Amino acid sequence: MIETQTMETAHGRGARSSGRPVVLVVEDEAALATMLRYNLEKQGYHVEEAVDGQEALTRIAEAPPDLVLLDWMLPTVSGLEVCRQIRRRPGTRDLPVIIVTARAEDQDAVRGLNTGADDYITKPFNIEALLARVRALLRRASAMPAKGKLAFHDITMDLAAHRVWRGERALHLGPTEFRLLEFLMQHPRRVFSREELLDAVWGKDIHVEPRTVDVHIRRLRKSINGEDELDLVRTVRAAGYALDTEAA
Ligand code: CA
Repeated sequence: MIETQTMETAHGRGARSSGRPVVLVVEDEAALATMLRYNLEKQGYHVEEAVDGQEALTRIAEAPPDLVLLDWMLPTVSGLEVCRQIRRRPGTRDLPVIIVTARAEDQDAVRGLNTGADDYITKPFNIEALLARVRALLRRASAMPAKGKLAFHDITMDLAAHRVWRGERALHLGPTEFRLLEFLMQHPRRVFSREELLDAVWGKDIHVEPRTVDVHIRRLRKSINGEDELDLVRTVRAAGYALDTEAA
């Protein structure tokens, strides 16, 4: 039994038909797609299908589902690329994606997860196991407020709860570092000068030395970068700072 209330997700387009969560099955093997549709519908989901990567991207752009079951090996555009594009578009950045890979190599799963998939399952799979993952992911997505959450690389910010994580690790930031990180996470990879950061984080009317920014950036770095972790704050000489995976 599906409890519609708890199954509604941040994407909320589940209301497409009677409020049931919409699962987009992207699968070029007709028999497998039919089997998935049958089982998902039995669980109360509304199922849509795409037979190749291009069709999947078009459908997602037109009306994002609540979850995507994404085959890895697809005609036209690969599952990997579909996943990449989903993550790149602001409107679908948080869309739950489960990669379905036919290849047993762990490497594919790892690549899938690196591309931003939330989970993966290897063919041939047990349908109950797959349904359990779909359920878990939808529950997780619906627990997250659509607004008030920011994510970049492995950093997640919950603005409402005022909490920050790097991966599984909770971070403890001072109030200024929190606001600084929030601002940078709203504009990832963009370089801001010290003056721009002062205006945005401290406010236009407050007179603070630009050097103050350096101090807080240093603190922020210390808080978010653990040992052996990628430095996510990029210093651009004479230009300023950015949140970036290529910090050099
Ligand atoms: Ca396939």
